[in-house]
Amino acid sequence: MTCVDLHCHSTASDGTVPPEDLPALAAKIGLSALALTDHDSTNGLQACETACKGVGIDFVPGIEISADPGPRIDTDGVERRRGTLHILGLFVRHDDSELGKISDRMREARNSRNPAMVEKLQELGVRISYDEVEELANRQGTLIIGRPHIAQVLVAKSYAKSVSDAFTKYLKFGAPAFIRRDYLQPQEAIDAIHHAGGLAIVAHPVQLVMPDPEELEHAIKRLTDMGLDGIETRHSDHTPALVAQYEKLAKQFKLLTSGGSDFHGDRKPVQLGSQQVPREVYERLRDARKS
Ligand SMILES: [Zn+2]
Ligand SMILES: [Zn+2]
Repeated sequence: MTCVDLHCHSTASDGTVPPEDLPALAAKIGLSALALTDHDSTNGLQACETACKGVGIDFVPGIEISADPGPRIDTDGVERRRGTLHILGLFVRHDDSELGKISDRMREARNSRNPAMVEKLQELGVRISYDEVEELANRQGTLIIGRPHIAQVLVAKSYAKSVSDAFTKYLKFGAPAFIRRDYLQPQEAIDAIHHAGGLAIVAHPVQLVMPDPEELEHAIKRLTDMGLDGIETRHSDHTPALVAQYEKLAKQFKLLTSGGSDFHGDRKPVQLGSQQVPREVYERLRDARKS
C-alpha cells in the first residue's frame, strides 16, 4: 500500500515550490496521489495536473478556503482571539465560476487589507512602506501577500526581534496594527466547493483552537449541517491523540476523513508526504466525490 498527500501548497499561494515541480517531488518519495490545495486559488491546478500525468501519479485538484471561524467571546463578554477555520475543497473543477468568484473576492480583500495594515503601522511611527512588503514577497516568489511578509519586513528593519514578536507587538488579533479581514462565511465556502463538484473537508481542526471537546463537537455539527463532507484527521499539527479524537468525531457525524502534510516548501519545517496517509484514504474520497 502506497501513501498519498492530500494537502499541499505551491507558489500559486504561499508555498515556495512551483505547482509544476511538486509532482516530481511526490513521485521521488513514492507517493501515489497528490492534492494541490493552495489558499483561495486554483491557479496552479492545471500545471500540477499536467506534471502529475507526466510522472504517473493521481492528481486531486483542490483549494483551501479561509472562512469565518465566528467570534470567540470569553466569559467576561470580551471578544478575544479566534481560531482559524480553513475548508479544503478536494476534486474541484478548476474552472468553476463560483470558485473563481471566491478567489477574486479573497484576493481583493487581502489586497486592501495589507496596505491598510502598513498604513496603521506608519501612523504608529513605524517606517516601513508597502513597496518593501511587495518586494520581499516577490523575492520569495509568492503570489499571495500576507501578514508574515509584513512581519519579516518589521524584523529586517529592527522593529521586532522575530516574526512572532512582530505578530505580538503589531499584527495579531487585537494588536495596534491589526485589521479584521473580510471573511467568507463557512456556508459560502462549502456551497462553492460543492458547486465545483468537490468535497468540503474541514482542515486541521486543531487550529480552530477549541480545547473543550464539547465546543469542537458543536462546531463540527454546525459545519455538518451546512453540508461538510469530511474532516482532515491527519495533519502535521496533529498529535496521535488528536488524530484519534478527530477520527471518532468523523465516525460520529458520518464524515469522510482526509490527511496531508500541509507542505509549503522550505517556508515551514514540514516534509511532503510526512503524514504517511494510506492510499485507501484517497480512494474513499475519490469514490465519494460529487459528479
Ligand atoms: Zn490551513
Ligand atoms: Zn494548508
